[in-house]
Amino acid sequence: MKDTFGRNIDYLRISVTDRCNYRCVYCMPEEGVEKRPHSEILSLEEIEEIAAAAVSLGVRKLRVTGGEPLVRRGVADLCRRLGALEGVADLSLTTNGALLPDMAQELKAAGVNRINVSLDTLRPDRFAAITRCGRLDDCLAGIQAALKCGMSPVKINTVLIGGFNDDEIQDLAELTVRDPVDVRFIELMPMGHPVPFGPEAYLPVTAVRERLGDELEPAGADGGVAKLYRLKGAKGRIGLITPLSCEFCGCCNRLRLTADGHLKPCLHSAEEIPVRGLHGAALRQAILAAAAAKPASHGELSAACPSHSAREMGRIGG
Ligand code: SAM
Ligand code: SF4
Repeated sequence: MKDTFGRNIDYLRISVTDRCNYRCVYCMPEEGVEKRPHSEILSLEEIEEIAAAAVSLGVRKLRVTGGEPLVRRGVADLCRRLGALEGVADLSLTTNGALLPDMAQELKAAGVNRINVSLDTLRPDRFAAITRCGRLDDCLAGIQAALKCGMSPVKINTVLIGGFNDDEIQDLAELTVRDPVDVRFIELMPMGHPVPFGPEAYLPVTAVRERLGDELEPAGADGGVAKLYRLKGAKGRIGLITPLSCEFCGCCNRLRLTADGHLKPCLHSAEEIPVRGLHGAALRQAILAAAAAKPASHGELSAACPSHSAREMGRIGG
């Protein structure tokens, strides 16, 4: 499936719920998202049908996300069904890791080989503060559970926040020395609701290169959005992801499906295309329309110029 700029759209991110067991301050308001009745959320069968239609149009990569995907009942079964769709070459999942110790094995058996776990800090007090209710040890145990059951790669997503965790760049990077994990530093994006950080929080991830300097050696690209480096002798790599710039819009290959059945052509645009209730040719037509609606780039994104998305990240999935 090509968009109007010739980009090959072969990646669908699927938000299976907008609920979450955490309330990360940059992602959700303290009270969480408005609880909507289950009837407003796509059933697992509807998700499978929409994913199958996208796959029939050339989508090859699926990522399950949330809110927190692991709080959705039946998520492992959904993964099994998505992974079994003919044409799917890659099935992955993004999670805060809290429920992974109990679920990693089941997810692996369901075909989730690759996993991203979000982890912004290695200090228990900071972890509790940024997630508003999470425990660092749960997340660390989740990462170990993913490694133990053979998921690979295990990627750690770290939102770099100036004045909050930029003094932990070295410690977070060193996770790649102990374990075969990739730590990916991602710029904080101004989305949705006001966050309790000033403009200094929107720190370019080039700060990581400056901090680690000579210790870093280039490690190529991952075929996605990260520029990769490695600490000398480390088992895993360090990725730098720069969503504030439009650097990777030119090779954007993705659509996003929200839990209530809308396709987002671009993370930072307000445009959404409803697909719930559509079947067969009408569904495929709507998916093609979403691909055709992808803009060339998301335009300026900064503290002064926030995202145009009508939803915060927790209702899109990253
Ligand atoms: N709950 C899962 C998790 O935390 O990994 C999946 C959904 S979460 C919305 C996906 C990713 O988006 C997480 O890595 C999170 O840190 C990131 N994220 C959320 N809000 C963000 C923001 N304003 N800027 C940058 N990344 C953000
Ligand atoms: Fe939940 Fe993930 Fe958002 Fe944190 S980033 S509130 S874990 S959806």
